[in-house]
Amino acid sequence: MADFFIGGRWVDSVAGGTREIRCPADNSLVATVAEAVPEDTVAAITAARVAYDTGPWPSTSAAERGNLLLKVADLLDRDSAGFARAESLDTGKRLVESEYDMADIAACLRYFGKLAGQDAGRIVDTGSADSFSRIVHEPVGVCGLITPWNYPLLQTVWKIAPALAAGNTFVLKPSELTPHTAIMFMKLLQEAGLPDGVANLVLGAGPQAGAPLSEHPDVDLVSFTGGLATGRIIAASAAATVKKVALELGGKNPNVVFADADFDTAVDYALTAVFLHSGQVCSAGARLILAEEWHDEFVAEVVRRAELIRLGGPFDERAETGPLISAAHRDKVETYVAKAIEEGAKLLTGGKRPDDPALQDGYYYLPTVLDNVKPGGFAVTEESFGPVLTIETFADEDEAVRLANDTHYGLAGGIFTNDASRAQRVAGRLRHGTVWINDYHPYLPQAEWGGFKQSGTGRELGPTGLGEYQEIKHIYQNLKPAPQRWFSGEPA
Ligand code: NAD
Repeated sequence: MADFFIGGRWVDSVAGGTREIRCPADNSLVATVAEAVPEDTVAAITAARVAYDTGPWPSTSAAERGNLLLKVADLLDRDSAGFARAESLDTGKRLVESEYDMADIAACLRYFGKLAGQDAGRIVDTGSADSFSRIVHEPVGVCGLITPWNYPLLQTVWKIAPALAAGNTFVLKPSELTPHTAIMFMKLLQEAGLPDGVANLVLGAGPQAGAPLSEHPDVDLVSFTGGLATGRIIAASAAATVKKVALELGGKNPNVVFADADFDTAVDYALTAVFLHSGQVCSAGARLILAEEWHDEFVAEVVRRAELIRLGGPFDERAETGPLISAAHRDKVETYVAKAIEEGAKLLTGGKRPDDPALQDGYYYLPTVLDNVKPGGFAVTEESFGPVLTIETFADEDEAVRLANDTHYGLAGGIFTNDASRAQRVAGRLRHGTVWINDYHPYLPQAEWGGFKQSGTGRELGPTGLGEYQEIKHIYQNLKPAPQRWFSGEPA
C-alpha cells in the first residue's frame, strides 16, 4: 500500500489502518488505501519542518521554483488521461468533466510557475539618502493543506502551486473519499525533482488525519477548503498557535435574472449554474432570484429542461451529470429537501432518487426544483450541496439585491440582464467574492477566488493567492551609522 508520502518516502500508517475507496456511481471498489492516525500526520509535519528549516527549497530562486511548476504542468499534460480516469472513479463525475479539470489544473500550475519568477519585493523611499529600505517576500514556512472531494485535485493544486511558488513546504490531507489523484500528483512532484520533505501527503478522516494540521505548533499556516462547520473548528483550533488561516468555505449563491435578459440564455445558464456536477459545486447557483413577471413561463421551462437531464456514471457518454459523492451525502440532500417542504416549499420536480434500474447501485438524486420557499428560511439560507434549485421572485432591482445579499454566505453570484449599466450597478452591490454577468461558473487562475462573510477568509488564485503563502518583511538599513545621542549618556 504505502500511500503516504513523508520525507520523500512512500510509507504506511503506523497503526496499519486502511479505508476502502468506492466509486459513487455504482459502489464498486476502486482501491483500498492507508488511513492515517494523528501520529502519521505529526511525522509528516516533522518532515516538512526539517525540509523547511534545513533543506534547499526555501532559498531556491523564485525563478527555479517557477520552472519546477512549469515542468509539473507538462508532466500532468503527459499523464492527464490517467489522472482524469482516477478522478472520475473517485468522484463519479463524468470523464469529460475530469478532463476539463486536468486542463484547468495545468493552467493553474503554469500561472503560478510564471508568477513565481515575476514576483519581487520593492524598494521603499525612506526620504533620505542615508538609509535604504526594501520589502521582501518570504515563504511562510510549513503549510497544512486540507481539501474536499468535489474537485479533488483542482482544489489541491490551487493551494500547492502558490505554496511551492512561494518556497514553502507542506503537508496535504485530501478528502478521505477521493485520495487517488493526490497520490498520483506527489509522484509527479517527485519526478520533477522536488527535494525530499517539501511535499508530504497523509490520507484519512478529518478529525484524525487532518486535525494535527491546525493544532500543531510546527505548522505555520493552514489552508482549508470545505464546509462551514469544519472551517469553524479549524479556525478555532488554529487560534491556539496563532497560525495564518485561509478558509474557502461554502456558499448559498444567488443567480439573479432580470426580465430584460435573453430568456433562453438565462434558462440555459440557470440549469448549469445549479445542476453542474449534481450541485456539488461551492459556487452553485442554487437560488434562482427571478423577476416576478417572468415567474410562470421561466419556471415552467426550467422544470421542463431539468426533467430532461440524463443521469449516469463517469464513462456513460450519454450522461450529462453523475451521482452524489456518497450515501451519507445523498441522505443529507434528502433530509434537506424534506425540511424545505415541511417549511412550506412546493416541489415542482425531482425530490427523489431516479427509478432507472441501471442507477440503483449509485447515489443518484434527481434534479430538484422548489418553489414558494419561505423568505429567509432554511431552504434559502443553508447549502444543500446537491441538485436542488429554489425559486424566489422580486419586484424591482432593490429587492433583487436585498434577496441576493440575504445570506450569511458570500461566495459567488450571477446576474442576467441586457442592460449594461444595470449589470455593473448590481454587480457592485452584491456582497459576494465573484459576480458573473450573463454567464455562470467561469473562473481564471489569474483572478482571485474567495468568499465574503462566512464563505471564508483570504483568497486563492491571482497575485493575492500567492500572497497568502508569503510573509512580508521590511528590511531597513542605516547607510551612515553614527551615535544618535537620543539618551545623552551624561549624569543628570
Ligand atoms: P468537509 O468540511 O466535510 O471536509 C473538507 C476536508 O476537511 C476533508 O478533507 C475532511 O477530511 C477535512 N476535515 C473534516 N474535519 C476536520 C477536522 N476536524 N480537522 C481537519 N480537517 C478536517 O467538506 P466536504 O464535504 O469535503 O466538501 C464540501 C464543502 O466544501 C461544501 O460546503 C463546499 O461548499 C465547500 N467547498 C468550498 C470551495 C470554495 O472554493 N469556497 C470549493 C469546494 C468546496
